[in-house]
Amino acid sequence: MKRRRAKRLTLFVGKGGSRVFETVIGLEVHVELGTKTKIFCGCAVEFGAPPNARVCPVCMGSPGVLPVLNEEALKLAVRAALALNCKVPNESKFDRKNYFYPDSPKAYQISQYDEPIGTNGYLDIEIDGEKKRIGITRVHLEEDAGKLNHSPFGDVSLVDLNRVGIPLIEIVSEPDLRSPEEARLYLEGIKAIMQYCLVSECKMEEGSLRCDANLSLRPAGQAAFGTKTEIKNMNSFRNVQRGLESEQARQTRALLAGDTIEQVTLRFDEATGLTSPMRSKEDAHDYRYFPDPDLPRMILSDAYIEERRREIPELPDARRARWIADYQLPVYDVGVLTASRDIADLFDQAVERVLDAKLVSNWIMGDVLAYLKAQGIELRDTKLTGAHLADLLENLKRGGISAAIAKDVLKRVMESGESPSAIIAAQGLAQISDEGELAGIVTQVIEANPKSVEDLLAGKDKAIASLVGQVMKATKGKANPQVVNRLIGEQIQAIREARLS
Ligand SMILES: [Zn+2]
Repeated sequence: MKRRRAKRLTLFVGKGGSRVFETVIGLEVHVELGTKTKIFCGCAVEFGAPPNARVCPVCMGSPGVLPVLNEEALKLAVRAALALNCKVPNESKFDRKNYFYPDSPKAYQISQYDEPIGTNGYLDIEIDGEKKRIGITRVHLEEDAGKLNHSPFGDVSLVDLNRVGIPLIEIVSEPDLRSPEEARLYLEGIKAIMQYCLVSECKMEEGSLRCDANLSLRPAGQAAFGTKTEIKNMNSFRNVQRGLESEQARQTRALLAGDTIEQVTLRFDEATGLTSPMRSKEDAHDYRYFPDPDLPRMILSDAYIEERRREIPELPDARRARWIADYQLPVYDVGVLTASRDIADLFDQAVERVLDAKLVSNWIMGDVLAYLKAQGIELRDTKLTGAHLADLLENLKRGGISAAIAKDVLKRVMESGESPSAIIAAQGLAQISDEGELAGIVTQVIEANPKSVEDLLAGKDKAIASLVGQVMKATKGKANPQVVNRLIGEQIQAIREARLS
């Protein structure tokens, strides 16, 4: 990481060490709203359905049909705009954005032009330990277009219209971002807020969060913007940062060589890490917007807007601040734990019962996240609840089970959803702390391992680990290690005294 930053900086350092260019980035983020049906018809929203299986005359744009607004889509859009600190006006309307392209059978897209759902918002990011406010110009509601699949078998393109009419919001930032890293942090912030507010699942790999980026350079200290280029449809946080870094480097080289930047639309090639020009409908520019005559103006009462505001849960920033204040958790921990709402909720639910924030944090950041990563799944794909985790950690805390057993039980809970206490009871996993029972096993282990015993008697204290290990093995991990340690110490001492007398 350090090496990459150093390399990036050298691109910007001119003779005498002065910074030659400043980077200016603005993002347009498309978020697919988590509705069950499309925005203007009853077709199901379903990722991975057979091509053209989720379409009807309305979303296909047949003549004579009328769109009807899905109220859930409006709700989610207003909630999202408010969560991004936008002003939501009492009136809003839909416009037709006219263009002819094979992914749009109506030859226009229903979107919003001059009266969007939200304006003048912001999102705070944290860069190098400092908070930075990124302006949000607007949030508008629109329908998605279809998808062209370019056939590998010849010079044809196949169109899948299942995506036509899926509700989206477009979030347009001010050109406030100054580096590809800031752009990535901003996008991560958008994703977290959308997930917290249950506006969208934001699955980038399924295209429910997509990002276009504008980038330009200007001489350091100059107020006017340079010529910008646009990179379309980047679909992972890493690719957003890589794509922008590559374009930043390309423009720097061009400007240093005395070339001018042309305003073009680019695509980012994941394999090569480079941007290249693409032919695009965006080159048309004249969309001849006009108000959609089929859809009434949307009148949003103050009460309606306030109701949406009340639906917004505690957002990541607020949770981080609360956890640091209430539990003195490290900044690193709260960053990891708040990255997903599900994980954050799991922590809150478990800590309410266990009352040991660091213990809960360690188990989530350790075993829970490791399991999810190994399986390539999300928390919601498992059966683990906050109550389960609390139950497990309570058993562990009062010495009812060993840490090794707790790890196994956790895995089983995540897979089966059984309660930890029930698993511990049914499997006889409870930790053996009974001294009488353990003393017998310790005696057997000591008799079977004379070499370790002699080492211990000779003052090689490390030999005790091997004896403890043997006892754990004999008890299938159930022995209480503290009791075992003490019992071994006592029996060795007894042997020592017997030899001396
Ligand atoms: Zn439809």
